[in-house]
Amino acid sequence: MNELLKKTAAEQSKALKNKEISAVELTKAAFERIEEVDEKLGAFNSLTKETALNTAKKVDEKIAKGEELPLLAGIPLALKDNMNLVGSKTTASSKILENFVSPFNATITQKLLNNLVPIVGKANLDEFAMGSSNENSAFKKVHNPWNLKKVPGGSSGGSAASVASCEATLALGSDTGGSIRLPASFCGIVGMKPTYGRVSRYGLIAFASSLDQIGPFARSVEDAANLLEVISGHDPKDSTSLNLPVEHYAGALKDDIKGKKVGVIKDLMSEGLTEDVEKAIKKAIETYKSLGCEIVEISLPKLKYSIGIYYILATAECSSNLARFDGVKYGYRTPDAKNLMEMYTKTRAEGFGPEVKRRIMLGTYALSSGYYDAYYKKAQQMRALVTEDFKKAFEKVDILISPTCPNTAFDLGAKASDPLQMYLTDIATISANLAGIPGISVPAGFDRDGMPIGLQILAPQLQESKLFNMAYQFEQSHDYWKQLANI
Ligand code: GLN
Repeated sequence: MNELLKKTAAEQSKALKNKEISAVELTKAAFERIEEVDEKLGAFNSLTKETALNTAKKVDEKIAKGEELPLLAGIPLALKDNMNLVGSKTTASSKILENFVSPFNATITQKLLNNLVPIVGKANLDEFAMGSSNENSAFKKVHNPWNLKKVPGGSSGGSAASVASCEATLALGSDTGGSIRLPASFCGIVGMKPTYGRVSRYGLIAFASSLDQIGPFARSVEDAANLLEVISGHDPKDSTSLNLPVEHYAGALKDDIKGKKVGVIKDLMSEGLTEDVEKAIKKAIETYKSLGCEIVEISLPKLKYSIGIYYILATAECSSNLARFDGVKYGYRTPDAKNLMEMYTKTRAEGFGPEVKRRIMLGTYALSSGYYDAYYKKAQQMRALVTEDFKKAFEKVDILISPTCPNTAFDLGAKASDPLQMYLTDIATISANLAGIPGISVPAGFDRDGMPIGLQILAPQLQESKLFNMAYQFEQSHDYWKQLANI
């Protein structure tokens, strides 16, 4: 592998500017790396060589002319395969969209192209982003670069594995209940979910629209902050996107955090935690103490309901969002249907995988007349209470910390036949989506088998700069983030 691929985006940007390497060479190096390891990893559904090399060429032309480069120009990036890029297949890892070619660019894709970021390919995911292990892809499973027998986490498993294995330097994922933070933690990299509405979802295949957010993966907090800056901003095409100025999120990284109040979420430090994860988080608490922070224990009494609330709301919303895949408008249509009704039912029966079907059925049930008040309405009310818990907590502290997941990456197949066990993997991440607040997972050590552990940090809405600052200070106190998977 070209040694430069192991560097951060910030370092690669310097190398490009100093002409140590050209953008075309760097992009080609990424494709060589993918060629070398992706058979084993399964991180990519498809590659977008032409787009990537055309973009890289433009970067080199700018460098040759001595022009200033936009942020992250020339840095190889993997796009989760539920985001549209003109001319590429956008499959959502589903058979129903297996041959769907994007007719338009997602807003984030357009922003990446404007900044001359070479998009090297479409990263594998759990079908329609439903899952925590990336075993729900209709095409192939993703393997964890730290140990190929283990899952990379989901649903953005391909995005995380590609960055952890240096196939790409950056990636985008979507996070509805933890799908960026969980795989980041399992793969030993940085993954961040922004405030709800900070990043446009126009062109993202919707899963649960009141929860979905797009966010960055990187091998350093600084790179993640810069990538968020590139993709953020108001978009008239997404009515939920916030009309607020984009900050220079990396601007506050080096600010002193002395005196800041760090809340430890008590409810996530007790049952279910493995010994090694507990140790790592306790060490993280010590790190913040040594940086001059005050540690406060915080209880979020309604947090224990978050998985129940999420699996009502997310399934209800997905049952509605996925109604559009009916064989008429997009993608797959069953070849042998006798009439219209059979065309709909067979298309959906053949096109969707088992987890997606389970969710559509659960969601349809929760929304059906007679059950709506008992399930959907109740879940909405409970969601407000979870949000209230966070509001109260943030009156006392600047940030909240917890493990990103109570355990490290598990073996492929270990939870595949037990959906409830799989759903429990998200206990620490889901509540941030319910409350719409930003969260990040940063490398915080390794377990006894050498698998990465993630520290989750949460901040109040729109305080991404503070979140990155607190994450950066933690990151720079250790060298966990510098360690790379040996694949
Ligand atoms: N694991 C959660 C689920 O299966 C979250 C997925 C996500 O954030 N896209 O729904």
